[in-house]
Amino acid sequence: MCEFCTEHGEGKKWYLQMKNYSDGLLHEELSSPQKKIAGALTRVEWVSRFLEEFVLPAFGRIPGKRDESPPAASADTPKVERTEEEIVRARKIVHFGQVLPIEDVEEVIDAVNSITRLPCGCRYIYTGKTDQRYCFGFGIDPKGILGTFPDAASSLEVLDKEKAKQIFRAYDDEGLVHSIWTGVTPYIIGLCNCDRDCGAYKAYIEKDGVATFFRAEYVCEVDWDLCTGCKSCMSQCQFGAQFYSSALSKVYIAPERCFGCGVCRAACPNDAIALVPRQERAEVAGLW
Ligand code: SF4
Ligand code: SF4
Ligand code: SF4
Repeated sequence: MCEFCTEHGEGKKWYLQMKNYSDGLLHEELSSPQKKIAGALTRVEWVSRFLEEFVLPAFGRIPGKRDESPPAASADTPKVERTEEEIVRARKIVHFGQVLPIEDVEEVIDAVNSITRLPCGCRYIYTGKTDQRYCFGFGIDPKGILGTFPDAASSLEVLDKEKAKQIFRAYDDEGLVHSIWTGVTPYIIGLCNCDRDCGAYKAYIEKDGVATFFRAEYVCEVDWDLCTGCKSCMSQCQFGAQFYSSALSKVYIAPERCFGCGVCRAACPNDAIALVPRQERAEVAGLW
């Protein structure tokens, strides 16, 4: 279990704890250290700013006018130079994610009250494309976006659970990595579906930078009795965890590189790849 499970999940998966989606948590006053790092008095204030600055531009609209208060400090805009450890600690307090496989995504969808599909801020930033709806927000609309923009129906979709699962399964087949995110931890703001146009992926994986999310609670393994060495799974992995042995005509998954997203399974015609709980693989049980 990752440290969020210990701190916010009572030893179980933190993202399956309903208290972490609660309205009470969203509106409660933050502690002094949280306020200082998040630059907000409550989570709803932080989430509103996040929507305004990150999500609204992805609608293809200019963000709404901010109030007159000075820009708040955030986890990623340090006033003084900080160590890598300090940056990660701050991110974990404010906005941090975890990779999760489709099975756990479906458990989350079953548990939450409402799901709104909305445009992806990262894809807007890195491709200039608007209305790329890969993000799924839970149960909140603190900025009243739907009301503020009467034509927002073209960019926002309120989904029923079955429709949401159907879309996630299609993304899974496509090889998009699912991840879940906090908005001032442990409040959970939503689920994402990412490829290499993801800002968090670029900063952390591509540039080998400071961590922005945890690995999943799992890793994948290949059953060599079933693997024919077709390599279909290899194009699916965004973490460089798969290796081909020409001598054996088999694919091997390096557990220390595997983030446990599970999307390689969809590409395997022989059902040769399985998820196993990370804690059952001693060599990566403590690697997050
Ligand atoms: S984390 Fe993924 S889905 Fe979410 S905004 Fe970034 S790229 Fe889009
Ligand atoms: S090998 Fe691991 S990281 Fe790569 S796609 Fe499969 S589960 Fe994801
Ligand atoms: S897709 Fe399946 S059978 Fe093909 S190489 Fe990967 S694990 Fe082996």
